[in-house]
Amino acid sequence: MKTKSVDQLLDLHYFGEFGGVNPSISDSSTYTFLSAKTMFDTFEGNTEGCYLYSRHSSPSNLYLGEALAALEGTETANVFSSGMGAISAVAMQLCNAGDHIVSSRTIYGGTYALFKNFLPKFNITTAFVDITDVKAVEKGITKKTRMIYCEAVSNPLLEIADLSALSRLAKKYDIPLVVDNTFSPLSIAAAELGADVVIHSLTKFINGSSDCVAGAVCASKDFCLSLKDVNNGAGMLLGSTLDSLRAASILKNMRTLHVRISKHSENALYLASQFEADGLKVVYPGLPSHPGHEAMKKQMHVEYGFGGLMTVDVGSLEKANTLMELMQKENLGYLAVSLGFYKTLFSAPGTSTSSEIPLEEQQEMGLTDGLIRFSVGLDQNIEQTYLKMKGCMQRLGILKSETTPTLS
Ligand SMILES: *Cc1c(COP(=O)(O)O)cnc(C)c1O
Repeated sequence: MKTKSVDQLLDLHYFGEFGGVNPSISDSSTYTFLSAKTMFDTFEGNTEGCYLYSRHSSPSNLYLGEALAALEGTETANVFSSGMGAISAVAMQLCNAGDHIVSSRTIYGGTYALFKNFLPKFNITTAFVDITDVKAVEKGITKKTRMIYCEAVSNPLLEIADLSALSRLAKKYDIPLVVDNTFSPLSIAAAELGADVVIHSLTKFINGSSDCVAGAVCASKDFCLSLKDVNNGAGMLLGSTLDSLRAASILKNMRTLHVRISKHSENALYLASQFEADGLKVVYPGLPSHPGHEAMKKQMHVEYGFGGLMTVDVGSLEKANTLMELMQKENLGYLAVSLGFYKTLFSAPGTSTSSEIPLEEQQEMGLTDGLIRFSVGLDQNIEQTYLKMKGCMQRLGILKSETTPTLS
């Protein structure tokens, strides 16, 4: 197990123009140049220290990017207007027509649809593999493979990718390893373990208040600059730019990320352990019964725990739906997609966030239709939450009601 100090993230501070404790928000789409020559040089690619136009970069976006680079320990980071904006830009930057991707088959539904349905329009194809089987990943590689793609902790099945092993494989073939670390910020330092590019949907834990959509790419200076290149950069040309006001608000929320992640993890471990002991089929990387438990322990930063996501299989979609409706009625959380909110969010992935994946493929990867994904919230009294959730399950016959022991 690893330990990691969050100091590099918390030590970053920029004062505002008037000594404000937060950096000033840049409220401009365009910037003046003192001389016409500087403007020309900037368009020629010499953009160091210059602002040109806010689709390229803006002070607020750079502040947020620096915080994300500190979080992941990469040279730098670019921010995007969504996680999918970041993912699509990276894929299209790394792959030309005729190129190939090797991707985990258990990934976010939108990413799956992008690789499976959309990129073939540009003659970019993908082999979907079992990411926990490094030999299968290697078998998927062809002469045209330009990216190995996975999620550190996968959506929604919470498979754990062995990033060190995947990184060794990627280096052997000289292919970049791209890791979506949305489910495990702070818990898994993907770049430290060998990822060349780390992607986040900031929409989830990093922002943590379910009030916006945003994304990030954390990588080397060279790669991040290439994404912003005015002639060839997928970030610059596809235009999924984050607004400065939003970048500033995400940066402020990021300052409590370490406290939130620890609490999400603590609460999820409690619920997962209790429900497993009650006899439910629970998937949570913190449980010794999870196939990726040891792989997670080997690469996690222990103080942030095993993450805030768990799944419970309640047997059928119908039961899953009635349970979620009842738990929402009891104010135990919201029936909603997404994750990382202070309130517990639950959804049935097969009919929501992973519905892009065809049914037979869902079955093959173990995505059963009674599965509920929980993004466990920041409840102060998780024991009480557990007892209430258990009560809901007993009312619906998902768990047997306890027989009161008879006094003898
Ligand atoms: C939500 C999510 C995305 C997509 O991010 P958006 O911000 O919604 O575009 C990508 N990967 C994972 C793992 C996600 O959970």
